Amino acid sequence: MTKNYKVDVLIAGQGAASFAAGLYTSRYQLSTLIVGEHFGGETAIGGLIENYPGQPDIDGFDLMLKFKEQIDNLKTPIHSSNLVNVEKKSGKFHSILEDGTQIESISLILGIGRERRKLGLENEDSWTGKGISYCSTCDAPLYKNKSSVAVVGGGNAAVEGALLLSKYAEKIYLIYRKGKFTRPEPILLKILDQTSNIDVLFNTEITNLIGDDILGLKSISISKTWEGKSQIDVDGLFVEAGADPRIDIPKKLGLELNSSTNEVHVDIAQKTSIEGVFAAGDLTDGTELKQTITAASQGAISALSAYQYVSEYKSSH
Ligand SMILES: Cc1cc2nc3c(=O)[nH]c(=O)nc-3n(C[C@H](O)[C@H](O)[C@H](O)COP(=O)(O)OP(=O)(O)OC[C@H]3O[C@@H](n4cnc5c(N)ncnc54)[C@H](O)[C@@H]3O)c2cc1C
Repeated sequence: MTKNYKVDVLIAGQGAASFAAGLYTSRYQLSTLIVGEHFGGETAIGGLIENYPGQPDIDGFDLMLKFKEQIDNLKTPIHSSNLVNVEKKSGKFHSILEDGTQIESISLILGIGRERRKLGLENEDSWTGKGISYCSTCDAPLYKNKSSVAVVGGGNAAVEGALLLSKYAEKIYLIYRKGKFTRPEPILLKILDQTSNIDVLFNTEITNLIGDDILGLKSISISKTWEGKSQIDVDGLFVEAGADPRIDIPKKLGLELNSSTNEVHVDIAQKTSIEGVFAAGDLTDGTELKQTITAASQGAISALSAYQYVSEYKSSH
């Protein structure tokens, strides 16, 4: 039987933004429900976190366990199912989760993050998990002692992924469609330069995935020849080509999006274009710096805004 809830604030997401929001709303004594299927968000699968103040060199999963422990201490409920629909009716939000649970709330905080970008090539979906991965930190160990692995992308995640994989596989091809790196941190580029088993293929795109339905991916076709070859045999391909904000729910609600980044537009108080809806973290255009610390900080700010909104709502109804 599905359980239904009536709360002051519904928080969607189980990442840094949402957990921080939940910590603060609970401390503001708002009745709070956190929903989302996957614990910990991107931080939990991001591997070693070296830049979260006060927690040097902590595994992302362990960091998120600490976030959750603080919420659990406040007895804030977490319901493990994703938000699939939400409507604002007569001043309240009516939400439905994937498992059928219905929630009525006075306010809503969205911390649903971003979706990893795909290449859009034939067989990409069917060979995901059969040679194709979107998370080097999760799957790199599977390529221990393999001959060659390709990584596609040009940001921090791609360079970090290639560096990590270089410790497992013999040869790494880092494939980037542009002519030089501009986004990765300089320290990563320095280490990349010093890593002898990584070849960087600039101005190159993957044009085709070759393999079979039983074994999955076997090789990739590339747009520019590399050492005379337009096809490279690989044991694996890691797509680290960035991510797009998850805007299905924001679109259903009719929230204003940033016209150039497609992120949910927020002001400095994490308010969206709809009264009572707040958004935090990687989903939003609040900051270019998409990190655990900024997501947590925006989550805390969104909680204060929700608290002020709910207090005003209650005093006028
Ligand atoms: C490989 C990698 C390495 C990284 N390394 C670092 C690092 O070293 N240091 C650092 O500070 N940052 C790092 N980051 C960035 C950091 O992980 C993100 O900035 C941070 O996770 C953003 O938090 P968030 O809460 O906004 O979103 P997320 O962590 O993405 O959490 C979003 C949550 O929403 C859930 N969700 C999605 N849809 C729904 C729905 N419909 N209903 C309910 N819930 C939903 C998701 O399942 C997830 O639980 C890294 C990221 C990656 C990908």
